[in-house]
Amino acid sequence: MHVVVIGGGLLGLTTPLSLSRHGLTVTLLEQLSASGRATSFARGGMLHASQANPWDEPGVFWHALKMLGREDAALLVRFGALPSLLGWGMRFVRNSRPDRYRQNVEKNTRLAG
Ligand SMILES: Cc1cc2nc3c(=O)[nH]c(=O)nc-3n(C[C@H](O)[C@H](O)[C@H](O)COP(=O)(O)OP(=O)(O)OC[C@H]3O[C@@H](n4cnc5c(N)ncnc54)[C@H](O)[C@@H]3O)c2cc1C
Repeated sequence: MHVVVIGGGLLGLTTPLSLSRHGLTVTLLEQLSASGRATSFARGGMLHASQANPWDEPGVFWHALKMLGREDAALLVRFGALPSLLGWGMRFVRNSRPDRYRQNVEKNTRLAG
């Protein structure tokens, strides 16, 4: 089987590696002149199972509301960006329900193990 992966960031680079180990042929498409130049470029580099908790922890909605529009916020979201973030934002907040949050921590912990 031939698989096409779009985007050469961390996920796009590790996915073909895993797929090729299972005997699949992979073509990676990247829009920039080189891979790993977008979000993956200057990340913190932390990789640790103790950080399995997702960002959308219970109460994140009120926390995010306080940061909204503040240029010095840890999570900078400008008012103008809100319409385009609506669908994603609702899913993000929905996953902050305590039961979903707990399930997602467990999933991440299994992935990190
Ligand atoms: C400041 C900062 C610090 C971070 N620190 C950490 C950390 O310490 N530990 C950690 O685990 N995570 C960290 N993260 C998060 C982590 O960097 C991201 O989750 C990860 O890099 C996302 O990888 P990605 O492959 O999904 O996306 P990206 O790296 O953004 O890759 C997506 C790629 O797809 C390409 N693309 C998009 N659309 C198309 C298209 N239509 N056609 C072709 N190519 C396309 C883009 O050009 C890009 O190269 C940090 C993030 C930031 C911003």
